[in-house]
Amino acid sequence: MFFDIHTHNPSQLGFKAIRSLSIEEAEKIFSTSALGLFSVGFHPWYASKFSIESFGNLEKWTSDNRFIAIGECGLDKNSDTPIEQQLEIFKMQITLSEKIEKPLIIHCVGCFNELLDLKKTLNPSQLWIIHGFRGKPGLATQALKAGCALSFGEYFNSESVRVTPIERLYVETDESELPIEQIYRTIAEVRGCNPNDLYAGEKFYNRFLSNN
Ligand SMILES: [Zn+2]
Repeated sequence: MFFDIHTHNPSQLGFKAIRSLSIEEAEKIFSTSALGLFSVGFHPWYASKFSIESFGNLEKWTSDNRFIAIGECGLDKNSDTPIEQQLEIFKMQITLSEKIEKPLIIHCVGCFNELLDLKKTLNPSQLWIIHGFRGKPGLATQALKAGCALSFGEYFNSESVRVTPIERLYVETDESELPIEQIYRTIAEVRGCNPNDLYAGEKFYNRFLSNN
């Protein structure tokens, strides 16, 4: 089982991947009976598009049983939107994640202090998965200590993959053209295990889908 925790690939309409949707894409998908598992959130790059009305739509979609997680959402120092505003939008999504009891899939670029501060102060009960993690092992250790899970894609720091406990390690394609199987194989090689031993799909099913 090679579960893809985060992809933007529209051909991934099945139960082996969580397809991340923009608000515009979600509007289309949730008005149809398209099969699949989806996450929806306000990406920090498009924070300027945020409105109370679109947040209301996000809230509405969360009750659809194809809705698995909120995201990708988070903080990015390269976004045109000021960090204060990004934090405000992110916090609304954190509150929603706690309310609906579904995890967050987080995009974080250059804002790890802010992210880990929030994790400490808010002490959320839902899982925070930092997707596309490319940080060094020191940062990985800090994020893991704070209780986050890490998801690795095509590009990653090998030592960070090694320090991540298997039960908090996820695998994703994101925007990569590589098949998910290949990314599993590369990560397994780094850890010196069999790709099947990563069991990311099973972890996900047990944790998030069993009571869906
Ligand atoms: Zn992504």
